[in-house]
Amino acid sequence: MSNPILEVHHLTKAYGRKVAVDDVSFSVAAGEIFGILGPNGSGKSTAVECVAGLRRADGGEIRLLGIDPQAQPELIREHVGVQFQEAGLHDKITVREALTLFASFYEAPADVEDLLSVLDLRDKRDARYKSLSGGQKQRLSIALALVGNPQIAILDELSTGLDPQARRTTWDVVRREREAGATVLLVTHFMEEAERLCDRVIIIDHGRIIAEGSPQDLIDSVDDARSLEDVFVALTPRPGTASTTKKGARR
Ligand code: ADP
Ligand code: MG
Repeated sequence: MSNPILEVHHLTKAYGRKVAVDDVSFSVAAGEIFGILGPNGSGKSTAVECVAGLRRADGGEIRLLGIDPQAQPELIREHVGVQFQEAGLHDKITVREALTLFASFYEAPADVEDLLSVLDLRDKRDARYKSLSGGQKQRLSIALALVGNPQIAILDELSTGLDPQARRTTWDVVRREREAGATVLLVTHFMEEAERLCDRVIIIDHGRIIAEGSPQDLIDSVDDARSLEDVFVALTPRPGTASTTKKGARR
Protein backbone atom coordinates (compact mmCIF):
# COMPACT_ATOMS: atom_id res chain seq x y z
CA MET A 1 0.00 0.00 0.00
CA SER A 2 1.50 3.31 -1.10
CA ASN A 3 0.23 5.58 1.61
CA PRO A 4 -1.03 3.77 4.70
CA ILE A 5 -2.42 6.01 7.41
CA LEU A 6 -2.90 3.01 9.69
CA GLU A 7 -1.00 -0.26 9.92
CA VAL A 8 -1.92 -3.03 12.33
CA HIS A 9 0.31 -6.09 12.63
CA HIS A 10 -0.60 -9.19 14.62
CA LEU A 11 -2.79 -7.35 17.11
CA THR A 12 -3.84 -9.52 20.04
CA LYS A 13 -5.94 -8.75 23.10
CA ALA A 14 -7.45 -11.08 25.71
CA TYR A 15 -9.70 -10.42 28.68
CA GLY A 16 -8.59 -13.08 31.13
CA ARG A 17 -8.80 -16.31 29.17
CA LYS A 18 -11.18 -14.85 26.56
CA VAL A 19 -9.19 -13.95 23.44
CA ALA A 20 -11.12 -11.00 21.98
CA VAL A 21 -8.69 -10.07 19.17
CA ASP A 22 -6.59 -12.87 17.75
CA ASP A 23 -3.63 -12.00 15.50
CA VAL A 24 -5.36 -9.32 13.44
CA SER A 25 -3.41 -7.49 10.70
CA PHE A 26 -4.61 -4.88 8.21
CA SER A 27 -3.66 -1.57 6.61
CA VAL A 28 -5.77 1.44 5.75
CA ALA A 29 -4.85 3.93 3.03
CA ALA A 30 -5.34 7.66 3.48
CA GLY A 31 -8.74 8.67 2.15
CA GLU A 32 -10.34 5.24 2.42
CA ILE A 33 -13.57 4.31 4.11
CA PHE A 34 -12.41 1.07 5.69
CA GLY A 35 -14.87 -1.26 7.40
CA ILE A 36 -14.38 -3.64 10.29
CA LEU A 37 -17.32 -5.93 9.99
CA GLY A 38 -18.46 -8.81 12.15
CA PRO A 39 -21.16 -10.04 14.48
CA ASN A 40 -21.59 -8.78 18.04
CA GLY A 41 -18.79 -9.97 20.30
CA SER A 42 -16.35 -10.64 17.45
CA GLY A 43 -13.76 -8.19 18.79
CA LYS A 44 -14.35 -5.12 16.61
CA SER A 45 -14.57 -2.54 19.40
CA THR A 46 -11.63 -4.02 21.27
CA ALA A 47 -9.52 -3.78 18.11
CA VAL A 48 -10.35 -0.14 17.37
CA GLU A 49 -9.98 0.87 21.03
CA CYS A 50 -6.42 -0.48 20.84
CA VAL A 51 -5.88 1.43 17.58
CA ALA A 52 -7.13 4.64 19.21
CA GLY A 53 -4.79 4.15 22.18
CA LEU A 54 -7.76 3.78 24.53
CA ARG A 55 -7.07 0.17 25.43
CA ARG A 56 -3.85 -1.71 26.12
CA ALA A 57 -3.08 -4.43 23.57
CA ASP A 58 -1.37 -7.66 24.65
CA GLY A 59 0.68 -7.99 21.49
CA GLY A 60 1.24 -6.72 17.99
CA GLU A 61 2.19 -3.39 16.48
CA ILE A 62 0.10 -0.40 15.52
CA ARG A 63 1.19 2.65 13.53
CA LEU A 64 -1.38 5.39 13.21
CA LEU A 65 -0.16 8.48 11.34
CA GLY A 66 3.31 7.11 11.93
CA ILE A 67 2.81 7.09 15.71
CA ASP A 68 2.47 4.16 18.10
CA PRO A 69 -0.85 4.99 19.81
CA GLN A 70 -0.17 2.45 22.53
CA ALA A 71 3.03 4.23 23.55
CA GLN A 72 2.05 7.84 22.78
CA PRO A 73 -1.75 8.20 22.77
CA GLU A 74 -1.46 11.93 23.49
CA LEU A 75 0.27 12.51 20.13
CA ILE A 76 -2.65 11.23 18.08
CA ARG A 77 -5.51 13.00 19.94
CA GLU A 78 -5.39 16.10 17.75
CA HIS A 79 -5.75 14.09 14.55
CA VAL A 80 -8.09 11.26 15.48
CA GLY A 81 -11.82 11.54 16.20
CA VAL A 82 -13.40 8.69 18.09
CA GLN A 83 -17.11 8.12 18.46
CA PHE A 84 -17.67 6.88 21.97
CA GLN A 85 -20.52 4.49 22.67
CA GLU A 86 -21.09 6.38 25.93
CA ALA A 87 -20.16 10.02 25.54
CA GLY A 88 -19.93 10.50 29.32
CA LEU A 89 -21.50 13.95 29.10
CA HIS A 90 -23.09 15.79 32.00
CA ASP A 91 -26.89 15.53 31.94
CA LYS A 92 -27.30 19.29 31.98
CA ILE A 93 -24.92 20.25 29.19
CA THR A 94 -26.67 21.37 26.01
CA VAL A 95 -25.91 20.04 22.56
CA ARG A 96 -24.21 23.25 21.48
CA GLU A 97 -22.24 23.57 24.73
CA ALA A 98 -20.93 20.02 24.34
CA LEU A 99 -19.83 20.63 20.77
CA THR A 100 -18.25 24.00 21.62
CA LEU A 101 -16.42 22.43 24.56
CA PHE A 102 -15.05 19.57 22.45
CA ALA A 103 -14.16 22.01 19.65
CA SER A 104 -12.02 23.97 22.13
CA PHE A 105 -9.71 20.95 22.53
CA TYR A 106 -8.55 21.24 18.91
CA GLU A 107 -6.38 23.68 16.99
CA ALA A 108 -8.51 23.71 13.83
CA PRO A 109 -12.00 22.57 14.77
CA ALA A 110 -14.94 22.13 12.45
CA ASP A 111 -17.76 24.67 12.30
CA VAL A 112 -20.19 23.78 15.10
CA GLU A 113 -23.27 25.22 13.34
CA ASP A 114 -22.42 23.28 10.21
CA LEU A 115 -22.12 20.02 12.16
CA LEU A 116 -25.43 20.71 13.92
CA SER A 117 -26.98 21.15 10.53
CA VAL A 118 -25.55 18.05 8.77
CA LEU A 119 -26.43 15.82 11.73
CA ASP A 120 -29.91 17.24 11.86
CA LEU A 121 -29.47 18.60 15.40
CA ARG A 122 -30.19 22.28 14.77
CA ASP A 123 -33.56 22.17 16.51
CA LYS A 124 -31.89 20.50 19.48
CA ARG A 125 -28.95 22.88 19.88
CA ASP A 126 -30.21 24.23 23.24
CA ALA A 127 -31.61 20.93 24.52
CA ARG A 128 -29.93 19.36 27.54
CA TYR A 129 -28.15 16.06 27.02
CA LYS A 130 -30.49 14.12 29.31
CA SER A 131 -33.54 15.23 27.32
CA LEU A 132 -32.25 13.80 24.03
CA SER A 133 -33.63 10.63 22.50
CA GLY A 134 -31.30 7.68 21.90
CA GLY A 135 -30.99 8.58 18.23
CA GLN A 136 -30.21 12.23 19.02
CA LYS A 137 -27.51 11.19 21.52
CA GLN A 138 -26.11 8.90 18.87
CA ARG A 139 -25.96 11.72 16.30
CA LEU A 140 -24.37 14.02 18.87
CA SER A 141 -21.68 11.38 19.54
CA ILE A 142 -20.88 11.38 15.81
CA ALA A 143 -20.73 15.19 15.76
CA LEU A 144 -18.34 15.10 18.75
CA ALA A 145 -16.10 12.63 16.92
CA LEU A 146 -15.91 14.95 13.91
CA VAL A 147 -15.70 18.35 15.63
CA GLY A 148 -11.89 18.29 15.70
CA ASN A 149 -11.73 17.93 11.90
CA PRO A 150 -9.85 14.66 12.35
CA GLN A 151 -7.56 13.17 9.72
CA ILE A 152 -9.01 9.83 10.70
CA ALA A 153 -12.46 9.28 12.18
CA ILE A 154 -13.14 6.07 14.07
CA LEU A 155 -16.88 5.44 14.15
CA ASP A 156 -18.07 2.44 16.16
CA GLU A 157 -21.60 1.26 15.28
CA LEU A 158 -22.53 4.74 14.09
CA SER A 159 -26.04 3.89 12.98
CA THR A 160 -27.09 1.42 15.67
CA GLY A 161 -30.49 2.36 17.07
CA LEU A 162 -31.22 4.93 14.36
CA ASP A 163 -34.31 4.91 12.17
CA PRO A 164 -33.77 4.45 8.41
CA GLN A 165 -33.81 8.18 7.67
CA ALA A 166 -31.30 9.05 10.40
CA ARG A 167 -29.17 6.13 9.28
CA ARG A 168 -29.00 7.58 5.78
CA THR A 169 -28.09 10.97 7.27
CA THR A 170 -25.11 9.38 9.03
CA TRP A 171 -24.06 7.63 5.82
CA ASP A 172 -24.07 10.99 4.03
CA VAL A 173 -21.97 12.42 6.86
CA VAL A 174 -19.41 9.65 6.41
CA ARG A 175 -19.21 10.26 2.66
CA ARG A 176 -18.86 13.99 3.28
CA GLU A 177 -15.96 13.44 5.69
CA ARG A 178 -14.17 11.42 3.06
CA GLU A 179 -14.81 14.05 0.39
CA ALA A 180 -13.28 16.58 2.79
CA GLY A 181 -10.13 14.43 2.80
CA ALA A 182 -10.55 12.35 5.95
CA THR A 183 -10.03 8.62 6.36
CA VAL A 184 -12.85 6.74 8.04
CA LEU A 185 -12.52 3.55 10.07
CA LEU A 186 -16.04 2.25 10.30
CA VAL A 187 -16.98 -0.48 12.75
CA THR A 188 -20.29 -2.19 12.09
CA HIS A 189 -22.18 -5.44 12.49
CA PHE A 190 -24.57 -4.18 9.83
CA MET A 191 -23.46 -5.79 6.57
CA GLU A 192 -25.54 -3.55 4.32
CA GLU A 193 -23.96 -0.44 5.83
CA ALA A 194 -20.47 -1.74 5.04
CA GLU A 195 -21.52 -2.75 1.56
CA ARG A 196 -22.84 0.70 0.78
CA LEU A 197 -20.11 2.80 2.36
CA CYS A 198 -16.81 0.98 2.48
CA ASP A 199 -14.04 0.85 -0.10
CA ARG A 200 -12.56 -2.19 1.64
CA VAL A 201 -13.52 -4.27 4.63
CA ILE A 202 -12.21 -6.96 6.88
CA ILE A 203 -14.73 -9.41 8.23
CA ILE A 204 -13.88 -10.74 11.67
CA ASP A 205 -15.42 -13.61 13.56
CA HIS A 206 -14.31 -14.77 17.01
CA GLY A 207 -11.46 -12.25 16.93
CA ARG A 208 -9.96 -13.49 13.66
CA ILE A 209 -10.03 -12.07 10.14
CA ILE A 210 -11.96 -14.43 7.89
CA ALA A 211 -12.13 -12.27 4.76
CA GLU A 212 -10.63 -9.08 3.38
CA GLY A 213 -11.25 -7.03 0.25
CA SER A 214 -13.65 -4.66 -1.43
CA PRO A 215 -17.32 -5.53 -0.87
CA GLN A 216 -17.71 -6.34 -4.57
CA ASP A 217 -14.61 -8.57 -4.71
CA LEU A 218 -15.81 -10.47 -1.67
CA ILE A 219 -19.26 -10.94 -3.16
CA ASP A 220 -17.69 -12.12 -6.43
CA SER A 221 -15.47 -14.59 -4.56
CA VAL A 222 -18.37 -16.59 -3.17
CA ASP A 223 -20.65 -18.60 -5.46
CA ASP A 224 -24.19 -17.23 -5.62
CA ALA A 225 -23.47 -14.46 -3.11
CA ARG A 226 -25.36 -11.26 -3.78
CA SER A 227 -24.49 -9.37 -0.61
CA LEU A 228 -21.88 -9.22 2.14
CA GLU A 229 -24.44 -10.95 4.31
CA ASP A 230 -24.31 -13.92 1.90
CA VAL A 231 -20.51 -13.84 2.05
CA PHE A 232 -20.55 -13.91 5.83
CA VAL A 233 -23.00 -16.80 5.95
CA ALA A 234 -20.91 -18.77 3.44
CA LEU A 235 -17.71 -18.23 5.40
CA THR A 236 -19.17 -19.12 8.78
CA PRO A 237 -21.10 -22.34 8.26
CA ARG A 238 -22.99 -23.03 11.46
CA PRO A 239 -24.33 -26.47 12.34
CA GLY A 240 -27.59 -27.12 10.52
CA THR A 241 -27.10 -24.50 7.79
CA ALA A 242 -26.32 -25.42 4.20
CA SER A 243 -22.69 -24.70 3.41
CA THR A 244 -21.84 -22.68 0.34
CA THR A 245 -18.79 -23.10 -1.87
CA LYS A 246 -16.18 -20.45 -1.42
CA LYS A 247 -13.32 -19.63 -3.68
CA GLY A 248 -10.48 -17.28 -3.05
CA ALA A 249 -11.67 -15.64 0.15
CA ARG A 250 -9.01 -15.50 2.85
CA ARG A 251 -9.44 -18.04 5.64
P1 ADP B 1 -17.69 -6.30 19.25
O1 ADP B 1 -17.36 -4.86 19.29
O2 ADP B 1 -17.35 -6.96 17.95
O3 ADP B 1 -19.11 -6.56 19.64
P2 ADP B 1 -16.03 -6.51 21.61
O4 ADP B 1 -14.65 -6.09 21.24
O5 ADP B 1 -16.87 -5.56 22.35
O6 ADP B 1 -16.77 -7.07 20.31
O7 ADP B 1 -15.94 -7.84 22.49
C1 ADP B 1 -15.18 -8.97 22.08
C2 ADP B 1 -15.25 -10.03 23.17
O8 ADP B 1 -14.59 -9.55 24.34
C3 ADP B 1 -16.66 -10.39 23.61
O9 ADP B 1 -16.69 -11.75 23.94
C4 ADP B 1 -16.87 -9.53 24.83
O10 ADP B 1 -17.78 -10.14 25.72
C5 ADP B 1 -15.47 -9.49 25.43
N1 ADP B 1 -15.22 -8.22 26.16
C6 ADP B 1 -15.31 -6.99 25.63
N2 ADP B 1 -14.96 -6.05 26.53
C7 ADP B 1 -14.65 -6.73 27.66
C8 ADP B 1 -14.21 -6.33 28.97
N3 ADP B 1 -14.00 -5.03 29.28
N4 ADP B 1 -13.98 -7.32 29.88
C9 ADP B 1 -14.16 -8.61 29.57
N5 ADP B 1 -14.56 -9.05 28.36
C10 ADP B 1 -14.81 -8.13 27.41
MG1 MG C 1 -18.62 -3.24 19.57
